[in-house]
Amino acid sequence: MYKEFQQHLQNELADIQAQGLYKNERIIVSPQSGTIKVESGQEVINFCANNYLGLSNNADLIAAAHDALEQRGYGMSSVRFICGTQDLHKKLEASVSQFFHTEDTILYAACFDANGGVFEPLLTADDAIISDALNHASIIDGIRLCKAQRYRYSNVDMADLEKQLQIAQAQRFRLIVTDGVFSMDGNVAPLDKIIALAEKYNAMVMVDESHSAGVVGKTGHGITERYNLQGKLEIITGTLGKAFGGAIGGFTTGKREIIEMLRQRSRPYLFSNSIPPMVVAAGIKAFELLENSNTLQDKLHENTAFFIEKMKAAGFEIKPTESAICAVMLYDAKLSQEFATQLMNENIYVTGFYYPVVPKGQARIRVQISAAHERTDMERCIAAFIKTGKELGVINN
Ligand SMILES: *Cc1c(COP(=O)(O)O)cnc(C)c1O
Repeated sequence: MYKEFQQHLQNELADIQAQGLYKNERIIVSPQSGTIKVESGQEVINFCANNYLGLSNNADLIAAAHDALEQRGYGMSSVRFICGTQDLHKKLEASVSQFFHTEDTILYAACFDANGGVFEPLLTADDAIISDALNHASIIDGIRLCKAQRYRYSNVDMADLEKQLQIAQAQRFRLIVTDGVFSMDGNVAPLDKIIALAEKYNAMVMVDESHSAGVVGKTGHGITERYNLQGKLEIITGTLGKAFGGAIGGFTTGKREIIEMLRQRSRPYLFSNSIPPMVVAAGIKAFELLENSNTLQDKLHENTAFFIEKMKAAGFEIKPTESAICAVMLYDAKLSQEFATQLMNENIYVTGFYYPVVPKGQARIRVQISAAHERTDMERCIAAFIKTGKELGVINN
């Protein structure tokens, strides 16, 4: 059999290559940080990690992980409910609840699992899930695993959401689901309007705070802080893999009974291993740092504001953003790749995105800003953009 299957795969892979969609891994030989070293030996300023608060290589987190490794060992070799729960896991869950002002929290191996395991235990074919069209792949997959009726509304389109909610009145319970920040534009979900519609049409709300937690809101407590809705949502999911240290791990946090039911029935929680103690301890430390000081969040916000101001002044177009994601619009797919390559020659590491990752004719460079960046890093990045922009005719001399 394999000979035919191999031929089939080779054809498909060649097709992916021909479409220019083949994904290659770029090898990094340094820790994740504001500046990284790649395999060739080149040192580049890194603007494509989700390391928003610069905690991926933070000394306090590393020390906490070291201590836990010494004191609590390497792995748990168990799921949570059999013999995979240390006091550390409970403490991290309490830290997450405190951060989001929620009633309880359940940890997962990743946010992909949190989203994969949140719908099916809670909703049935009698219920409705109303989902933003640009929600993360893990939300889409999680919804697929659940028998609830599915409704989709155009990205942040409140008129469309209202229309779907009207149709969904036919079902018993309704859950609106949205990303907090959408990863290609950096725009936030209009949570105030979503909550108003949820109240009008008797629905619950779930937000995935993966790109917004640690970033959005005056003190970086996420989109619920931004809209002054802390403690109001039924469900929040998020990751430890972005702002909160970047290792691994996810969570669902929210109403007590919802979390309690997930501990009974959520399959990625019941049938997958516990997060290792060192990762849990570093996670606790991350939340502790953010509770005690706003330095990192402030630095991130300053870096982002500086970048947007200088880039706009230079004539670049940046999609309206309230996060650390800045989409520098180039529109042309080929140009976006050329631009990214030239920036790499200037030791600025960014990613160019084009169709089908973003809509046709909407090619862009996505710049992700971090508290690990110094002002000089930001200046070098902007200078490289201006130089390249002039050379490629994107901005005027
Ligand atoms: C990154 C991301 C995830 C996946 O998180 P992991 O912990 O890496 O699995 C889920 N949802 C959104 C919106 C994300 O941006």
